[in-house]
Amino acid sequence: MTRVALAFDLGGTELRAALVNSEGKILAFKSVLTLAKDGPDAVIDQIDALAGKISANVPHAVPIGIGMGAPGPLDPVAGIVIAPPTLSGWQDVPLAGILEDRFNLPVRLENDANAAALGEWRFGAGRGATSLVFVTVSTGIGGGVIADGRILHGRRGLAGEIGHMAITSESERCFCGAVGCFEAVASGTALGRRATTLTKPGDGSALRALSDDGEVTGRHVVEAARGGDELALMLINREARWLGIGFTNLLHLYSPDMIVMGGGISHGYDLLRKPIEATIHERAMPAYRDVPVVPAQLGRHAGLIGAASLILCDQSLSETESWQPITSAGAVGSAE
Ligand SMILES: [Zn+2]
Repeated sequence: MTRVALAFDLGGTELRAALVNSEGKILAFKSVLTLAKDGPDAVIDQIDALAGKISANVPHAVPIGIGMGAPGPLDPVAGIVIAPPTLSGWQDVPLAGILEDRFNLPVRLENDANAAALGEWRFGAGRGATSLVFVTVSTGIGGGVIADGRILHGRRGLAGEIGHMAITSESERCFCGAVGCFEAVASGTALGRRATTLTKPGDGSALRALSDDGEVTGRHVVEAARGGDELALMLINREARWLGIGFTNLLHLYSPDMIVMGGGISHGYDLLRKPIEATIHERAMPAYRDVPVVPAQLGRHAGLIGAASLILCDQSLSETESWQPITSAGAVGSAE
């Protein structure tokens, strides 16, 4: 019988659910807008309702557990959502325990960026790697680190906050309050802001034409560069340079087998690849220069598939009957 897990990706705007089989294939998918302002109880009811709907789609698949990706900070071992800025009223919510009681199934909780890293590692671009760094470049920069065959959690599950490593002494102020964060200079938001500053409404530029004379986004820059626009190509080169500097730090820190790049800006991977590699070649020590930077394969489903893998790849759950609650026993269950 094929193993199936119920997976959730709990975001501040969207709550997504899927049934995923042991090959990492999505058998059913549904999403709703998260009732983020209504507090934990409302969202937990939404999770319950989605689980029912999605299971009804594939009546013969009986999930052996629930994998949940949620915004950090969270404690993956204790299964507690600590205080995510995008979910109001969530303060130390023991989400894994609550869901175990409701569904009578084992539940594993993981920070959403780590869940996406697990997805790409186990079922996407990173299959076969022992170590990898997953970097998602979109509105912000996030990621997760797989080191020596396991996700790197660090103290309180807070490791791998890639977007906030400082890579320059000057930049716009990052939302975290610091200056020079990787995210502040290399995110899609930073790319769009740079493009907006260098153009004006009505100036006839390709970038403003694509944005209908509004704010230019990172996606617009990628699109204009693909059309051969010189300003956009210059901006893409600058973006690739910042990414290359950040990636070089990651190579030196973690010595991964590969860097997997996802997020909205990775749609411009074909344009970014060469200047990223040139920057790595220029800045990394020789032993690290041949590590490939590859595009993610699972797109927006990486987090869901990774969340499912918390259950599907957990050897202790091979017998459905033998699962141990991770909260009530006080025992520490493996998060993998
Ligand atoms: Zn920051």
